[in-house]
Amino acid sequence: MNFNIPGNSGMTSARTRARLVERLRASGIRSEEVLGVIGEVPRHAFVDEALAHRAYDDVSLPIGHSQTISQPYIVARMTELALESPGRGKVLEIGTGCGYQTTVLAQCFKTVYSVERIGALARTARERLSQLGVHNVRLRHGDGSKGQPDAAPFDAILITAAAPIVPEFLIEQLVIGGRLVFPVGTTDQELRMIERLEDGHQETRLEKVRFVPLLPGLA
Ligand code: SAH
Repeated sequence: MNFNIPGNSGMTSARTRARLVERLRASGIRSEEVLGVIGEVPRHAFVDEALAHRAYDDVSLPIGHSQTISQPYIVARMTELALESPGRGKVLEIGTGCGYQTTVLAQCFKTVYSVERIGALARTARERLSQLGVHNVRLRHGDGSKGQPDAAPFDAILITAAAPIVPEFLIEQLVIGGRLVFPVGTTDQELRMIERLEDGHQETRLEKVRFVPLLPGLA
């Protein structure tokens, strides 16, 4: 992992990042691989300079357009669930936002497909990834709610916005053994995981979460 880190290098001090890693470990993140990646990705590069001093707190933060950068805990949790899939080839992220989760996934999978419905966010994320030197991401401005059949099957699919209903139709875009990790619900939301099996699938209900909604169409 080697990022071209812009801005104030003090914000990325090893100690600040190590504190976040310890916090996530205490919150129950078990994967050393994921903790290692979170400790390397410069989260301050994904938020406005005025918020950079909070970038290594375990909180979500506004990124404009009524959207947020996800809390590091949930990024770590969803990534560790995705990494239990059998392969490390292709992962699909629905909801790029600022591109933070995208960058974390890019350290763990060969190719990340990521789709964002808000054009301005997709553009900024694309520029940021290129500045950081993250080159294994195919970022698309589009409505990702139907997945990406032309690039399927994926080893894992992550939805980083809350779907109103369980998107069972995405299961067919997974390899056998692949995992779909997503929040579902409107006011009361829950993180869930669906594993595609040889003959059908298995759904697991995980913890309570709080995400922005998955919305149709482009903006
Ligand atoms: N992965 C991000 C979280 C972004 S918040 C991170 O690392 O912080 C969720 C994002 O999903 C928002 O940017 C929102 O615009 C986007 N989104 C919502 N509905 C969508 C859809 N149908 N297709 C693609 N992106 C969508």
